[in-house]
Amino acid sequence: MRAVKSKDTKPELIVRRLVHRMGFRFRLHRKDLPGSPDIVLPSRKKVIFVHGCFWHGHGCKRGNRLPSTNLDYWAAKLARNRQRDEDTLIELRRLGWSTYIVWECQLRELESLRAELLRFLST
Ligand SMILES: [Zn+2]
Repeated sequence: MRAVKSKDTKPELIVRRLVHRMGFRFRLHRKDLPGSPDIVLPSRKKVIFVHGCFWHGHGCKRGNRLPSTNLDYWAAKLARNRQRDEDTLIELRRLGWSTYIVWECQLRELESLRAELLRFLST
């Protein structure tokens, strides 16, 4: 049993629940796929990532905020994360997967996120 649940997994749980309630079935963290996507729908060849705005450098207010110390370190680290994410998406698309990224900040508007996910998953 895990004693402490990481706070970072919470957005992922919310998205999982949302997709599950829409009636879609999925697998989690498939290690054999690039970036081991958070949510995988093999029969539809679709994957969903749930990204924290800070760590993955989202263009929103939270994602744009850098820590005030060790600025160079953080800027370089976050740039590497963004590059890795981009490479992952390119690789997945090359393998024929459709990709969707849920940003943490989108969880504030669950209804519109739901609509977007439904559009992504049912087309
Ligand atoms: Zn964001």
